[in-house]
Amino acid sequence: MSVPESRSSAGWATIPGIDTPVASTVATHTACTGTIQRVLFDEGRIIGISVTDRVFTVHQRRAIIARDKECLIPGCHVPATWCEIHHVTEHARGGPTHTDNGVPLCWHHHRTLDTSGWEIRTTNGIPQIRGPAWWDPARQWRTPRPTLDTLALA
Ligand SMILES: [Zn+2]
Repeated sequence: MSVPESRSSAGWATIPGIDTPVASTVATHTACTGTIQRVLFDEGRIIGISVTDRVFTVHQRRAIIARDKECLIPGCHVPATWCEIHHVTEHARGGPTHTDNGVPLCWHHHRTLDTSGWEIRTTNGIPQIRGPAWWDPARQWRTPRPTLDTLALA
């Protein structure tokens, strides 16, 4: 997949095997959450498989789900198990694929994050959120849910 460097929402990207270009925002979100796997062949034999490090592993995903429970946006109760894991600092901008840099967002809030006014950051691995002015005129950073001292993975 070719993703333009520009943050412009007007750009287009191409996906191998698909003739129709897609909006760069689609490509960016696919790159954020999608599974990108490269299989190396040598005369029909598989000689290597690599998975990009921008994909959160099953173990990382389970830990993030245990920590955050639901979509990170206050008032949204989509279970984290149904959410996409968002890179708080984009992978393309050097954000690591680490639990400290991953938060669950439902499909809607992930797609609208750039335009909705919600902002997300992590501080010492704790996700924080700052709402748009209509939600919080003071625009303070908040921890969306109390952090539990002990988290057990089911
Ligand atoms: Zn949501």
